[in-house]
Amino acid sequence: MNLVLMGPPGAGKGTQGEILSKRLDINTISTGVMLRTAIKEQSEIGKMAEKYINDGKLVPDDVIVSIVKERLQKPDCAKGFILDGFPRTIPQAKALKKMLADRNSKVHAVVGLEVDDNELVDRLLKRGKESGRSDDNLETINKRLEVYHNQTSPLRDYYKQEGKYHAIHGSGSIDDIFESIKCSIAKATKE
Ligand code: AMP
Repeated sequence: MNLVLMGPPGAGKGTQGEILSKRLDINTISTGVMLRTAIKEQSEIGKMAEKYINDGKLVPDDVIVSIVKERLQKPDCAKGFILDGFPRTIPQAKALKKMLADRNSKVHAVVGLEVDDNELVDRLLKRGKESGRSDDNLETINKRLEVYHNQTSPLRDYYKQEGKYHAIHGSGSIDDIFESIKCSIAKATKE
């Protein structure tokens, strides 16, 4: 089962990805986590990505696609994976489709967590205070939401056209949201 978890920053992709990962016994691959690790290690990619992340902008497609391509080739991904935070643009989605098709595979379902902007801003400001994430400040949050609406949300139509998009109302308790996701996945695997 290859899943994509989509949604604006603060929608709960990380939280739900972690629960899903345990339940489905497949790994969650978060491009945000990978980039933050690269920044901590001050690798070449990390140094390059840092400015984009702190400005709330997307890291260039070719960089992120090559990171994901390398990661998906690791043996633990053979039985399936959950992508959190990738793809974020149409070119990334097309690159993902191609890299999976090359190994006779595909994205089985896309779960889109939908939460309104006011709630997202509140959640991210709270997270910023707790986690100290450098991009969880009001200016960068607003930029990230703008980037989401301009560059990432067109992916909803892209995956709707492929019949893979499952919208989930991302407000409410973590358990209730997880139940909705579970139902969508069950439906998607029956289709
Ligand atoms: P996240 O942890 O998913 O909110 O990602 C944090 C930041 O990492 C984003 O605001 C982007 O700057 C960068 N990033 C993560 N995933 C991607 C991606 N698929 N494409 C481009 N930039 C990304």
